[in-house]
Amino acid sequence: MPSEKDSSVVILATRRRREPAFIVDSMLGSLARWLRMLGYDTVYAKGWHDSRILDEAAATGRIIVTRDRGLYRRALRRGIEAVFVSDDIAEALAKLGATYGIRLEIDPDRSRCPLCNTPLKRIEKSEVKGRVPPRVYEAYNEFWICPRCGQVYWRGGHWRGINETLEEARKLLAKMLKRRR
Ligand SMILES: [Zn+2]
Repeated sequence: MPSEKDSSVVILATRRRREPAFIVDSMLGSLARWLRMLGYDTVYAKGWHDSRILDEAAATGRIIVTRDRGLYRRALRRGIEAVFVSDDIAEALAKLGATYGIRLEIDPDRSRCPLCNTPLKRIEKSEVKGRVPPRVYEAYNEFWICPRCGQVYWRGGHWRGINETLEEARKLLAKMLKRRR
């Protein structure tokens, strides 16, 4: 959580009633998938021109997340909220945690589909039979499905790697908040 001593973060947190929503530039496809898994409404602007990204952000209040300094500056000049991030996932997530207080923990009941941004729904184990490999069906009891694209999710072998990245992000966040005091 943001430090209470950091007044800019507190003001942002109180002004923003709903959860932040993002628009992520072409260079950050992986970060877009992470934000969706963490449960944040995220548009991946793959192949979009800067002007379309800026217009979309201005019209919807989405925060621009970018690695493009030119786009970042154009956003600020237009008074559009934007954040410049590293291409390191843990660092980028930590920065978004420090700036917008995003959760750095995955709760699949709140996750969105990393492929299409639709909120996932829990699904009974019996309903995924035949839709996942038999060894997965045997090994896991909790499943989620994307109602839009039909992709089924479970906490598989990759879950450990995901948690390691988030653990690193939380450590970096703690350091960033300490530095601000
Ligand atoms: Zn989907």
